[in-house]
Amino acid sequence: MSFKDLPPSHPRYHSLLMRHLITEGGKKSIVAESGLIAHGRGEAFDYLLGEETKPFALKAAEAAAALILESERPILSVNGNAAALCPDEIAEIERISPVAVEINLFYRTPKRERAILKHLKKHGVKTVLGVKKSDTLRLSSLDHARRIVDRNGIAAADTVIVPLEDGDRAEALVREGKKTVVIDLNPLSRTAVSGTVTIVDNITRALPLLIRKLKETAALSEEERRKILDEYDNTAILKEAEKAVRGIL
Ligand code: ATP
Ligand code: MG
Repeated sequence: MSFKDLPPSHPRYHSLLMRHLITEGGKKSIVAESGLIAHGRGEAFDYLLGEETKPFALKAAEAAAALILESERPILSVNGNAAALCPDEIAEIERISPVAVEINLFYRTPKRERAILKHLKKHGVKTVLGVKKSDTLRLSSLDHARRIVDRNGIAAADTVIVPLEDGDRAEALVREGKKTVVIDLNPLSRTAVSGTVTIVDNITRALPLLIRKLKETAALSEEERRKILDEYDNTAILKEAEKAVRGIL
């Protein structure tokens, strides 16, 4: 049976749809082999969370929206899994907010870059940074290909949204003085812990939620947005998320 034959009423429909998008992404070189494994780790945490958005993710998404709207140059860093799972949401975030989109790959090859660029464009992303060799710069605190960033994108950003980012690179962004909005199902990962605002939720729920919060938060005054940020405590949010995955909450 192929995924196309699966009825949406199937109890694991959404989970299987995500697997389908990831494996199809693999065939098109959008998703790296290790991306399949990373997705599996995410699935395990999602299972423990009951595959639903919890209150700590809602609070974090609101703070993330406020942070993004208070930023001068917010950038959304897109890898293969994010592109495969949420291309429409990435396009919508670009359309409705000041966020610019950059392809940023751990396993960077010209073929993957091209495949992701084509996929994002097909889904309506207007401008994609991170693909022009002449515009690339290196983060000083990381080695080889993993440190390449766009001089007009992540290098110049004050806030970087990093869904499913590798821990080393997420920490390097913080060392470079950037604020980060992390989306990661594992509240214990180095990426999650390093975030300024960490949304512990599946990217497929977190990005639609972030879109909603960006719209709501844009209607608030600057003072109200500041208040949301002043009252936000990422350490407490991570504690709540950890309790939830440990079954204590
Ligand atoms: P770190 O290097 O940050 O300590 P890690 O080694 O677990 O953590 P990676 O394996 O590099 O991180 O990346 C995979 C991460 O992405 C995992 O933490 C996993 O939970 C998360 N992840 C995978 N799929 C999703 C998804 N669909 N939504 C949100 N998070 C996801
Ligand atoms: Mg890692």
